[in-house]
Amino acid sequence: MFQAARDGSSGRRLRPANGFGFKRLWVALHVDAQGAERMSLDLLALARALIERPSITPDDAGCQALIAEQLAPAGFAAEPMRFGPVDNLWLRRGGRKPVLVFAGHTDVVPPGPEEQWNEPPFAATVRDGLLIGRGAADMKGSLAAMIKAAERFASSYPDAAGSIALLVTSDEEGAADDGTLKVMERLAARGELFDYCVVGEPSSSERLGDTVRIGRRGSLTGFLTVRGVQGHVAYPLAAENPMHAFARFVAAITREPMDRGNAHFPPTTFQMVNVHSDAGAPNVVPGELKCRFNFRYSTEWTAASLAERVERELERLGIDHEIRWRIAGEPFLTAPGRLTDAVTAAISEETGLTPELSTSGGTSDGRYIAPYGIDVVELGPLNATIHKVNEEVAIDDLVRLERMYFRIAERLLLP
Ligand SMILES: [Zn+2]
Repeated sequence: MFQAARDGSSGRRLRPANGFGFKRLWVALHVDAQGAERMSLDLLALARALIERPSITPDDAGCQALIAEQLAPAGFAAEPMRFGPVDNLWLRRGGRKPVLVFAGHTDVVPPGPEEQWNEPPFAATVRDGLLIGRGAADMKGSLAAMIKAAERFASSYPDAAGSIALLVTSDEEGAADDGTLKVMERLAARGELFDYCVVGEPSSSERLGDTVRIGRRGSLTGFLTVRGVQGHVAYPLAAENPMHAFARFVAAITREPMDRGNAHFPPTTFQMVNVHSDAGAPNVVPGELKCRFNFRYSTEWTAASLAERVERELERLGIDHEIRWRIAGEPFLTAPGRLTDAVTAAISEETGLTPELSTSGGTSDGRYIAPYGIDVVELGPLNATIHKVNEEVAIDDLVRLERMYFRIAERLLLP
């Protein structure tokens, strides 16, 4: 099927049954609202050009150079910031306050088994009103929409009270050590922090704009070693079984909910993700157990208070142990205010929906921006196909997303 689509020998995939093929799509965009017509085509071309660059994390594969080139005529000054192996890009147009930042990433996760794709993952195929390829939804489509919205805002309101900037990284899907985190440190050191941030992560679940993320739970991983005393299973009094101690620990920590959540967050969860203890013989009690667990936590906790809670429990149970911690990000919340109002209004005007303001889902680069006291939300396309084979986004959704981003800028940056 993949091969047929590529060489065009089978018309089936290229000419969909409902007849809504490439030509019809072209016309559909052509009869779009006045002035938006050329824009829409440019938006699609830009999204396709980004997908065609196979920027598997943390490789940028030339995406940021393309973005800088695209925004230069609109007066955006591009500042590449390379940290370690990672390309980042900071784009500004003037220094008027307030500053709204559109933030996104050019890196994508690997395509996975290519034979499972109906179209080549980096061909940016347009079919049936859809744009298909790795990164279409996460998040080259919304990145293109943010770029076009920034460009259109600059040309529509050259003397606006506030200004737009863009923060682009190629290290979001990977370790994320040399991406947004470092860019923020540099901007903070220069006194160049901003006021509002919209991250283009795919926040929508059923329909475009049905969900906006206004925060994220924290993520904390514990690496625990329980020490026992190795011995013969027939002489347990002379041994100390670390698996039994481990069982007491899990029972104690899961006996009651960590919290009940709060107005914006679901309850904190604890999940064991890995356990290992084995002396390699059926008649030996192992001397050690290693395990790993993760908390997804609400603003009722910090990483420090959770770690203290766990360590207190281990002490109370008298468990001989060693523990180390890794924080993926503290929880953050953007309280309802100017930014959430602007985003909600832009979505309602464009779709008629009132979005749910949610804090669910995994972590995102918002975790590196929010700690500076900046209001951050995430608004992007449907997330149904992200990180999967045959990732896709509706082209019409990208067109509407561009308008939403533009409306958000209007509400925040015009007097
Ligand atoms: Zn993403």
